[in-house]
Amino acid sequence: MDRTRGFLHAEVEARDWEEQRSLQAARLREVLALGEAQAPAVAALLRGAGARAGDFHSLEDLGRLPVTPKARLVELQREHPPFGGFLAVPLAQVRRIFRSPGPILDPQTPGEGWGWEEGLFAAGFRPGDVCVNTFGYQMTPAGMMFDEALGALGCPLVPTGVGDRDTQIEILRSLGVTGYTGMASFLLQIGERAREQGLDPARDFHLKAAFTTAEPLPDSLRNSVEEMFGATVRQGFGTAECGCLAYECHERGGMHLASRAIVEIADPESGRPLGPGEIGEIVVTLLSPAFPLLRLGTGDLSAVDPVACACGRPAPKLRGWLGRCDQLVKVKGMFLHPGAVQAAMRAFPEVARFRAVVTREEGRDVLTVQAEAQAPDEGLRVRIETRLREALGIGAGCRWVPGDSLPADGKVIDDLRKWD
Ligand SMILES: [Zn+2]
Repeated sequence: MDRTRGFLHAEVEARDWEEQRSLQAARLREVLALGEAQAPAVAALLRGAGARAGDFHSLEDLGRLPVTPKARLVELQREHPPFGGFLAVPLAQVRRIFRSPGPILDPQTPGEGWGWEEGLFAAGFRPGDVCVNTFGYQMTPAGMMFDEALGALGCPLVPTGVGDRDTQIEILRSLGVTGYTGMASFLLQIGERAREQGLDPARDFHLKAAFTTAEPLPDSLRNSVEEMFGATVRQGFGTAECGCLAYECHERGGMHLASRAIVEIADPESGRPLGPGEIGEIVVTLLSPAFPLLRLGTGDLSAVDPVACACGRPAPKLRGWLGRCDQLVKVKGMFLHPGAVQAAMRAFPEVARFRAVVTREEGRDVLTVQAEAQAPDEGLRVRIETRLREALGIGAGCRWVPGDSLPADGKVIDDLRKWD
């Protein structure tokens, strides 16, 4: 069985990306027209932008609408229960109501899935794979999302949820389970427990493919799990409200955008759509006639890169999770993220601990990286400053501080500017 090639929906996944975008634009017009007539929140957003549904000719026109942050959706749902005015069908047509942290209520209507089956296929799942679905089935939609996707793919599954590890091990072994959906970190814990029992997960289990989402997947975690089980681990990106938005193929190197929703990368302050390769907030428009969320701000940071992928999918790739918008600090007019500072400083193992401090001197922002090193010297200091300027795109000073003087509180950027 070839788990590395092919498409679940070739007519969609292999289609030219520009063509996919123009189909999305046509779908957007339909959804906006329905929303304008039947969903008060959509009508209000359009009115606020001085636009009508018929004015949206291309996806670029979406930029006319403001970004609705998740926190605003929470408020709207409180003001206009239960769905904040976004429901465009009668309540009797809602099948399930999920409650995600926020809290945000998400309606599920029959016939509207979350689209994870494409990602599962790309990750190597094939019809007939017996699976365990370890995503939770209570309150949040994660469990049901993958339950339905595995069903659509023809994969029998055990709805385990996050049950205890010994039971998971027993099920994995007795059913010869080949597919796993859930957090990669939980699969690692299952494997560790199996080893405690004297088992070798690569030999004593039959796992071939694992699909994970809802947490960052660093290479170290992926490699450990793949090696432990002799299986491939692939990830997807989605939200409770929108379902699958992007997923990895066999080739890795980012997650192909799914065409079922419109994913934009937007400037976290202005909401303006950004270009390829630029880092910004992931903003999602759900092309659902029943629950048409428009430009929902996820609060997560990423970038979208155009790629020529060997798998044959022309869809550009989402770079993966690059942090949260609320961790962004604007320094000298540029967004600075803790992850970018950490990545730059990783080149200097001589530095035991560091912290970036932002101050304001004579009306100008000053970025200084305080660093502790065993043998601080001038040459190293200059190399660090050069690297920071290259990596961050802004000038930063490096200043040595005595060993063990920086607090070990995990804070990477300390913003000491006073604005009063
Ligand atoms: Zn690919």
